[in-house]
Amino acid sequence: MKGIRVRGGTFEYHAKEENTGMKISFFGAAQEVGRSCMLINAGKTKILLDAGLGNNNEQVNGTDGGMRMPELPDGLLESVDGIFITHAHLDHCCFVAHAYARGYRGNVYATKPTIEIMKLQIADYVRISKPKEITREVLKRLNRSYKVVEYRKQMRFKNIGIEFVNAGHIIGSSLIQIAYGGKSLLYTGDLNLRSTFILNGADLNGLKADALVMESTYGAEGDIYPEGSERGDAMIKSINETILSGGKVLIPSFGVGRAQEVLLLIRSAMESGRLQKVPIYADGSIGKIMRIHRQNLKYCRKGARKSVQSDSNIKFVDRKDRERIVKEGSCIIVSTSGMMKGGPIIFYMQRLAEDPANKLIIVGYQAEGTQGREILDGSREVEFEGKKLTIRMQVEQHRVMAHADRKSLEELPGKIRGLKQIFIVHGEAGKQVSLEKHLELKYKVSVPGIGETHVI
Ligand SMILES: [Zn+2]
Ligand SMILES: [Zn+2]
Repeated sequence: MKGIRVRGGTFEYHAKEENTGMKISFFGAAQEVGRSCMLINAGKTKILLDAGLGNNNEQVNGTDGGMRMPELPDGLLESVDGIFITHAHLDHCCFVAHAYARGYRGNVYATKPTIEIMKLQIADYVRISKPKEITREVLKRLNRSYKVVEYRKQMRFKNIGIEFVNAGHIIGSSLIQIAYGGKSLLYTGDLNLRSTFILNGADLNGLKADALVMESTYGAEGDIYPEGSERGDAMIKSINETILSGGKVLIPSFGVGRAQEVLLLIRSAMESGRLQKVPIYADGSIGKIMRIHRQNLKYCRKGARKSVQSDSNIKFVDRKDRERIVKEGSCIIVSTSGMMKGGPIIFYMQRLAEDPANKLIIVGYQAEGTQGREILDGSREVEFEGKKLTIRMQVEQHRVMAHADRKSLEELPGKIRGLKQIFIVHGEAGKQVSLEKHLELKYKVSVPGIGETHVI
């Protein structure tokens, strides 16, 4: 891949062929969160931006292994030239394994940490969900097809220009900019504009685009991070209360991103004396992902690198430790899965949920149909793997930043030069309509549905 022409410092690519515009089709994450996947059709070139899976909460066609697939037209994958992945969350990357089973023969492009984490995510997904079409042969083909992309390195892929830029969401996460025929499109994947404990916020420096495809996970009017949330102020205070009264704090978290942020925030609060000293345990895939952070320090914020490297005061545990942990005194447990659908969190819930001295702290997004969402919505009789629990522990929500909040989402378009058109994706329909109404005052805005194609 060669560098593309840069004119006057802006990022554009002028194709020699007849310009028929850039077409964009949405196959997932359209009026929903999950299964992010869109097709860019630029002249003779077809690429996919993201290839994710969704939680199977309702009856939708095309499931395998219990997950929802992007709704791609039959035979399309054979004609796709490249798949570009913004980040290593299941809802953005785990469909690539299915893509190879269904005729895709190109490569998968992503940053180094994204590729390393993706490999683990896909292995976990295949082990847990056992999708029939993902054979050993398919995985071999996939493993040979990863290509590393660097931030801010403009590349040419056939007749289009592509550039990855830090998205600030999880380690290695990217915004992807596409240029073709004098037009450009910026896709946010999932983004966070503010710096977190581990990461710098999204790098919007000098970005210019005609069209923006933006996520809207926290797009409702009330989705605003309170003052001090980057330091987890309210969360730390709440954890401290439970520890002082002798309870245990349980924090369900995604294994990738949020868990590492939460752990380092808590440890730093303990080391600075803001939080009482008790054991901090991390269960599930969290430790493996922490190692990938250590091997990719240049993707972490400079001021956080020392903390990322240090193992002190965090115990990475597994099955053999669990019984002991629930029997001992006050402690903090960060465990997967983030929405409490599976993973070691189920064990901890079964043992800790019925004691009012304990506290459950929800830090991440909870999809509809998950146990996490049920609890968040006020239900106190919840079934975990066939066992009904009465939730007597205290329940609180403290959002730990990973996504842009409503305020940042409102500000984002104003930071992209030349922007005319916006597509809102990756959000619940109600939130998207409210954000659309706000942005419509200045831009042409759509909330595309599944299968819709638009021309830029
Ligand atoms: Zn994500
Ligand atoms: Zn996502």
